[in-house]
Amino acid sequence: MNKPSIEQRFAPLLQARQAQNLYRARPLALSAQQPSMQINGKQVINFSSNDYLGLANAPELKNALQQTLSQNLSVGSGAAHLVTGHSLEHHLLEDELADWLGVERVLLFSTGYMANLAVQQVLMQKGDLILGDKLNHASLIDGALQSDADFKRYAHNDMSALEKRLSKTQHADSATLIVSDGVFSMDGDLTKLPELQKLAKNNQAWLFLDDAHGFGALGKHGKGCFEYFDCQPDTNTILMGTLGKAFGVSGAFVAGSQTLIETLINFARPYIYTTAMSPMMAAAGREALRLVKQADARREHLNQLIQQFRIGASQLGLPLMDSPSAIQPIVLGDAATALAWSEQLKQQGFWVGAIRPPTVPHNTARLRITLSAAHTAEQVDSLLEALAACQHSHTLSR
Ligand SMILES: *Cc1c(COP(=O)(O)O)cnc(C)c1O
Repeated sequence: MNKPSIEQRFAPLLQARQAQNLYRARPLALSAQQPSMQINGKQVINFSSNDYLGLANAPELKNALQQTLSQNLSVGSGAAHLVTGHSLEHHLLEDELADWLGVERVLLFSTGYMANLAVQQVLMQKGDLILGDKLNHASLIDGALQSDADFKRYAHNDMSALEKRLSKTQHADSATLIVSDGVFSMDGDLTKLPELQKLAKNNQAWLFLDDAHGFGALGKHGKGCFEYFDCQPDTNTILMGTLGKAFGVSGAFVAGSQTLIETLINFARPYIYTTAMSPMMAAAGREALRLVKQADARREHLNQLIQQFRIGASQLGLPLMDSPSAIQPIVLGDAATALAWSEQLKQQGFWVGAIRPPTVPHNTARLRITLSAAHTAEQVDSLLEALAACQHSHTLSR
């Protein structure tokens, strides 16, 4: 017998990651989530979070949480939704989200990751086909891999590749699900929603849109990709959103028809076998929704910052991506270069993560800059200056 110890098996893998500049560590946040933060003991301006409307540390949300203390709410939900964990706060948040989005029903999940596992596991059965964009979020890919359906990926936003896949005939009675991010999380570009809808309709396929980065931030009223493209979801559309990004709290939801939601409640293991989120968090979620509805000015400011950043970055000749969203990546190529820029930005007082493989494809390591309505125009200007300095020292060192 010569079975490996954990040490023998994994220490070399960790060393290899280190050698390839791919080792991951968790930056320690020592202050609240906001633009000005202390991270790893250093005072920085944070350009890495998904708190697009600046709600995560909003006083209104903290007040709402404080008020829950005098309500008849427990800290823990105590059980799963199907047992005794489904409180009035959860129920009202679902109803209010459904109202806001104009869909029949909404179902809360503890995280977006679990929502994405649930939808594909339940809806897609043996003999069915899932067609996913190549750059979909990891949780969508994992959800597809865990379902019993066949899973094929099409080139990023390539509608003719998708059409080709759709036209390959299957059994008449099998289902096809098209799955896409609304706003792609590492690139910031948008899916071609009107074309996706048309292809889905023409091929009797269902459409699953993960709008984690769209809800709250995108569209005049923050209703995400459907509002941005002026489209309407139909009865074969499944929407997913998270509450941990623009909403500033945590949790996620699936939105769609009555039958969809009842099916998930009855069959989705990631829904059934887990404790419901804290009712206090659900109450905070309701306040977050109220704030998101009133956040037209925040969204307008965010859009101004996006324009300001893009104009400034293109004047510097930085390689911008085709992104109208708050996610503004700068692709630098190899992991070492991305790390070097990120490190230099930190020295200058800016926190910008280097996103490296396997999160993004090989040789597309990048800075993932995210803007928030909580940033000021001055902060964006000083980030641009810091990027110019990086550019300068990088060219000099070559
Ligand atoms: C963040 C994210 C998720 C996961 O949501 P969590 O609530 O953080 O688990 C899913 N899909 C996309 C596109 C995301 O960006």
